[in-house]
Amino acid sequence: MQLAELTWPDVKARVPDTPFVIPVAALEQHGLHMPLATDAMLLAEVVRRVDEQLRDRVIFAPVQWLGNSHHHLEFAGTMSASPRTYLDLLADMLENVLHHGFRRVLILNGHGGNITPLKQAIFETRQKLRARRDLLLIGASYWDFRPAGRLGAEFVQDAVGHACEWETSMMLAIRPDLVKPFDHLNDLDTGYSFEPAYRGWITRERVPAGVESPGHLGDPRHASREKGDKLFETFAAGTARFLEKVIAWDGQSWEFPS
Ligand SMILES: [Zn+2]
Repeated sequence: MQLAELTWPDVKARVPDTPFVIPVAALEQHGLHMPLATDAMLLAEVVRRVDEQLRDRVIFAPVQWLGNSHHHLEFAGTMSASPRTYLDLLADMLENVLHHGFRRVLILNGHGGNITPLKQAIFETRQKLRARRDLLLIGASYWDFRPAGRLGAEFVQDAVGHACEWETSMMLAIRPDLVKPFDHLNDLDTGYSFEPAYRGWITRERVPAGVESPGHLGDPRHASREKGDKLFETFAAGTARFLEKVIAWDGQSWEFPS
């Protein structure tokens, strides 16, 4: 169910045990070849497919287009809530949903920069409600819901990058008209460096010396519409299976239903 299409009595009738999903994305540069709304459009497609599979068993809020994208601000058009503002925004949305009486809340993410604030918002909200024993506050990125290992021999990347093989493929599957030529783009997967330490970074610097960043991270040259269809199918099926478990949760246990 789409929250935006329900009346308030419709929503009230689904309290307290209908899982409530808050999808969060971003509006940020996606290289020389893809539009700024890429993350929001891809997440909306995942949500559309999951909603189709679960029908009236789960409520989906509209995709939140503003994310934490400060690391992309060197590129024109990127809009971003600063990390602290974004943390508060997520916590407020969580608290809205809890205020209305829902107890099973999933923040479903579609942008890497949202991951740290998302975990912090969930952690802080749980601490504020320490006396409660009936809450399932969880967060994940849609690409987490896939089998371990490589998705198929045809894939070059085994993880999501940025405007990369995976994201470009998915955009080709839904809006090929918005994808500009990408055959000339280099593989720019430089990792994080200095591992196992975590290094603070901005997108522009994650390129080899002397190279000016075009904005992508990963290898868009290997994108195809067929790969995009396979990625959507995998992520939507995995997310739907996960939500089935959220529905099956007994309302109190630490353990997740197997
Ligand atoms: Zn993206």
